[in-house]
Amino acid sequence: MQMIDPSSEMLVTILGSGTCVPSLKRSACSVLVETGGKKLLFDIGPGTMHRLLEVDTTIFDISYLFLSHFHPDHSGELVPFLFSTKYPDGTRRQQPLNIVAGKGFYTFFNKLKQVYGDWIELAPGLLNLIELDNRDRDIFTGNRFSIASIPMKHNDESLAYRVMSTTGRSVVYSGDTDMNDNLVLLAQDTDLLICESALPDDLKVSGHLTPSLAGKIATRSNTKKLVLTHFYPDCDGIDIETQCRKTYIGPLLLANDLMRIDIR
Ligand SMILES: [Zn+2]
Ligand SMILES: [Zn+2]
Repeated sequence: MQMIDPSSEMLVTILGSGTCVPSLKRSACSVLVETGGKKLLFDIGPGTMHRLLEVDTTIFDISYLFLSHFHPDHSGELVPFLFSTKYPDGTRRQQPLNIVAGKGFYTFFNKLKQVYGDWIELAPGLLNLIELDNRDRDIFTGNRFSIASIPMKHNDESLAYRVMSTTGRSVVYSGDTDMNDNLVLLAQDTDLLICESALPDDLKVSGHLTPSLAGKIATRSNTKKLVLTHFYPDCDGIDIETQCRKTYIGPLLLANDLMRIDIR
């Protein structure tokens, strides 16, 4: 187990580097960002709670959850997460849980409540829902960090997020997207871009990126380090790095579950 270095400005843990496809190696999408004493979760695909335990983090440690969009490989463990919070008697969560997502989030959550009712309700004051309106660029200021978001080319509600420490270090999380200039804008000069690279170059599908397209975004935005993630099984056995190197020469990582990246 890697210990958290107190000198870290931001510590990023890739909890899930996979997709909707069941895999023992790659859990569905989720990224943990620790900054300013806060633990922020980006997406909550199936398997997230298990992976959190593997990095000694409980569900009660999470104060913010940001959803990139509502596809189940990004949101599917939200209901179990909320239900688990009630065990044993709903008193273990001390700090409020803030859930932030794009347009349509209130409707999405109300529909979940129609199905699950008070199984997913927390004690008064412990659950805050925040729907962003998918304007060109939204700024959300939290306690000891701030977040910028911008629409992505995937679903109507899709957002990418840029989380910034109080000293200006930053991490950008793309969520799912096709090629678009918004991601270049949001990732400008960022310390770390966590970018989806769902399928190899020759299997490109609409709504998703490939290694060389992700590399193009990183180059155009002057990203200081690029992490490719969200790998479908079609990526297994393919030289993803070489495909990305066609368009990007900077520091590059291919995500694995539980990979940790220190930003200082
Ligand atoms: Zn998606
Ligand atoms: Zn996805």
